Amino acid sequence: MKKKILVANRGEIAIRLIRAIQELDYEAIAVYETPDRHSRHLRAADEAVWIGDGPRKDYLDVEKIIGTALRSGAVAIHPGYGFLAENPDLARACENAGLIFIGPPCDVIENLGSKVMARQIMAEAGIAMVPGTQNLSAGDKGLKEALTFADQYGYPIMLKATSGGGGRGIRRIENAAELQEQYPIARSEAKAAFNDDSVYLEKVVLKPRHVEVQILADKSGNTVHLGTRDCSIQRRNQKLVEIAPAFQIGHELQEEICQTAVKAAKAAGYFNAGTVEFLLDSDDKYYFMEVNTRLQVEHTVTEMITGIDIVRSQINLAMGQDLDFTQDDVKIRGHAIEMRINAEDPQNNFMPEGGKTISVYRSPGGYGVRLDGFCYQGFTIPEAYDSLLVKLTVFGWSWKETVDRLRRCLTNYVITGPKTTIPFYLNLVEDEDFQKGVFDTSYLETHEHLFHYQEDNSEVNKLARLIAEIHYRGENRYAK
Ligand code: ADP
Ligand code: ADP
Ligand code: MG
Repeated sequence: MKKKILVANRGEIAIRLIRAIQELDYEAIAVYETPDRHSRHLRAADEAVWIGDGPRKDYLDVEKIIGTALRSGAVAIHPGYGFLAENPDLARACENAGLIFIGPPCDVIENLGSKVMARQIMAEAGIAMVPGTQNLSAGDKGLKEALTFADQYGYPIMLKATSGGGGRGIRRIENAAELQEQYPIARSEAKAAFNDDSVYLEKVVLKPRHVEVQILADKSGNTVHLGTRDCSIQRRNQKLVEIAPAFQIGHELQEEICQTAVKAAKAAGYFNAGTVEFLLDSDDKYYFMEVNTRLQVEHTVTEMITGIDIVRSQINLAMGQDLDFTQDDVKIRGHAIEMRINAEDPQNNFMPEGGKTISVYRSPGGYGVRLDGFCYQGFTIPEAYDSLLVKLTVFGWSWKETVDRLRRCLTNYVITGPKTTIPFYLNLVEDEDFQKGVFDTSYLETHEHLFHYQEDNSEVNKLARLIAEIHYRGENRYAK
C-alpha cells in the first residue's frame, strides 16, 4: 500500500503539492471546506475529506487537520502557504501525533514567526538590518517609546505587527500626530488578525527593492541557496509580480546577499525550505527583513531558473533525506517572471471579484510557460478565500525573451466573468521602466498609466464571448 500525505491547503497550491506527492509515489489526501466543494484540488487528490462548513475556520483547525490525517492513515502533512503553514502549533501537534510535518521544526517557526525575535537572532549573527524597536510596551508607555524612537530616527517610520504576514499589519507613519492616532488602531487590528497585539517600529527604507533568497537545508546541516528573487512589484505591501534572479543586480552583490541568507538560515537552526527577505536600497545596501518559514507562492520562478523541484525537495528533506546536491551543483540560468492572475479589479483598488463565475477560460501554453491554477470554465470563485486564480510563470534565456513571451501569453489568456489583473499586466509588459528592469516597491504609485485600459465591450467581443459560453457549457464536469 502506498503511503499517504495530507495536504492542509486549497486552491492552486494544493494542486501543486498533490502533483509532487503523486510523483514521489505517495497518495495525496485533500481536505476541503464546503465553499470549496467544486474546487479542482479535490479531483486532483487520491482522496478528499470534507472537514466542515468553514469558511477559513476548518482549514485553520489544528485538531481537525491532525484528526483527519490520523484517521486517513497519512504519515505526513504539507501545510502549503498561508493558513497553518506558519503556525507552530500544527508542527508541534504533528510531532506529538507521530506525523511528519513538511516544514521546519516548531521552535524555528515560533522564533522566526515573531519579526522582533527574528531581528534579534539575526542581529546576534551580525546581519545588517534597519534600526527598529523591541516590542512596544502596552498602553501609553508603548506610545511614548514609539514617539521617542521616531524623534531619534525621523519620519517616516513603519509600524508593524510583530506576528504579521501577507502584507497585513504594516503601516507607514508620516508624523507624530499620525503615530498617536494609528498606534492604538494598529494594536487592536493586530490582535484581531494575528491573535497578538504586539507591534514594533522600523525605520523606513525609501524606494527599496524587495529581494529574497530561497533556501534549502537538510538535517545534517547542509544549507544551500537557490538564488534571489525580486518581488518589488507590490500592491498594499503584497507581491503581484516576482522575478528570478533579481534583475539588474550585479553578480557580486547577488552572491553576497545569498551568502547572508545562508548565514541567517544557519543562525536560526533552519531546516527544510525557507525564504530570507531583504530590502535593498538605492545605494546597494541591503537589510534583513524577515524569514518566511514555508513554501512561497513565487517558488515557481526559482524552479524555472534552477531546474530544482522545491516541493519534491521539501518532502524528501522532511522524510529524512539529505540534500543530494551541493551549492556548486546549483546552476542559475535565464530569467523567470511570475504574474499572479488574481480575480481582482486593478482599476478599483484591486477589489476582489469573488462570487463571480468564470464564463470563458482559455489558457496559453508552449515553450517556457508554466501555469499553476485551479479554476476552470463554469467555476464560481468562492468569496471566502484569496483571489489568486492562476500563476503564470514564464522562462526565457534573456530578459527580453522572457518579457516577449509573457506578453504573448497575456495576449492569449482569456478569462471572462470576473475582472482579473491581466489587462493591468498587459500594460506592465509594455512599460519602459519594467522592460529596463527599473522598479522598486513604489512602482505602482509612480506608474499611474498602468491602470489606463478599457474593457473590450464591443458588440463583436460580446457575441464572441456568448458563443464561447454556449459552446463550452456542456463540457463543465463540475456544474451544480
Ligand atoms: P509580511 O510579513 O507581510 O510579508 P514584511 O515585513 O515582509 O511583511 O514586509 C512586506 C513589505 O512591506 C515589503 O516587501 C516592503 O515592500 C514593505 N516594507 C516592510 N518593511 C519596510 C521598511 N522598513 N521600509 C520600507 N518598506 C518596508
Ligand atoms: P493546469 O491545469 O496546468 O494547472 P490551468 O489551471 O490553466 O493549468 O488548466 C489548464 C486548462 O485545463 C484550463 O483551460 C482549465 O480550464 C482546464 N481544466 C483542467 N482541469 C479541469 C477540470 N477538472 N474541469 C474543467 N476544466 C479543467
Ligand atoms: Mg514578507
